[in-house]
Amino acid sequence: MALSEFELIERYFAGRRAVAPNVLLGIGDDCALLKVPPGMTLAVSVDTSIAGVHFPDDMSPADVGYRSLAVNLSDLAAMGAEPSWFTLALTISRADEAWLSEFSAGLFELAERFSLPLVGGDVTRGPLSISIQVGGLIPDGKALLRSGARAGDAVYATGSLGDAAAALALRGDAQVGPSHRELFGRLHRPTPRIEAGMVLRDLASACIDVSDGLVADLGHVLKRSGVGARIELQCLPRSAAFRELAEQFAEPDALVLGGGDDYELCCTVPPEREVLLQARFAELQCPITRIGRVEAEPGLRCVDARGEDVPLRDAGYRHF
Ligand code: ADP
Ligand code: MG
Repeated sequence: MALSEFELIERYFAGRRAVAPNVLLGIGDDCALLKVPPGMTLAVSVDTSIAGVHFPDDMSPADVGYRSLAVNLSDLAAMGAEPSWFTLALTISRADEAWLSEFSAGLFELAERFSLPLVGGDVTRGPLSISIQVGGLIPDGKALLRSGARAGDAVYATGSLGDAAAALALRGDAQVGPSHRELFGRLHRPTPRIEAGMVLRDLASACIDVSDGLVADLGHVLKRSGVGARIELQCLPRSAAFRELAEQFAEPDALVLGGGDDYELCCTVPPEREVLLQARFAELQCPITRIGRVEAEPGLRCVDARGEDVPLRDAGYRHF
């Protein structure tokens, strides 16, 4: 007997009712009832993940669940928000219990790390598609916008860039070692930089998460802020795994500059706050690297170790 819609929700999604301070009512009624405490602003974002577009068809159901939530949490991180709840609109071609069980295990593995309750959703039949909406809280006036960068600010990036794109480039490669596994881990289970975003509330002038590639995403910040920037190719943070396998990539620099899906944060920081930034990120044990400087002249420029211009392609994934 196939599972009914209500049995499916109960078995795989409603079972893990987390107690959360701002959730008055979660799954089970026509709407969830959510509270925004006084002095706090609600940040809301929604993203859809589609098989073959946002993740490879052969990705495991647990990774699909984990990643679908991670990419949404990354948007909250980029605003400096603390995640508060999420909803899930799931379209599946059939009620495959093995798939649902693994998908929900991956999804809740990440949700539980942030004590994040699933407060509602929808289930429909059709080609696999996962829409997740997240809500998070920011103290009033503290949201990190794309529009705040000023000439003279330093440009920073968390973690390392190009790892997820490197994993895509290595797909189908017969060799599998620890560095391969690490890069695929970055593609399949990105780490949303929530704690980093919350620390940046008091430090950064602008912030974005790197989902479409550094050139494209930093470009959005510069455009919104009405400024430009110069970044230094040799400063861009590369992971040890990436460096170990770098000679296998046709254009490693292009992966670092233009590769998406890393979900690191790229932010701009006024010079007088840089010492504090280093101290706070050391406490967090989150790597953060200065990659360049904001300039008054619009546009993004990149220089190599000899100070020569590196041509930048208009990178970034575009759906249309
Ligand atoms: P309605 O028809 O009133 O929209 P539904 O039958 O779609 O209600 O859903 C019943 C309850 O289950 C609602 O509270 C809804 O938010 C919740 N729900 C439905 N699908 C999901 C899901 N995939 N994950 C979590 N909650 C869900
Ligand atoms: Mg409904």
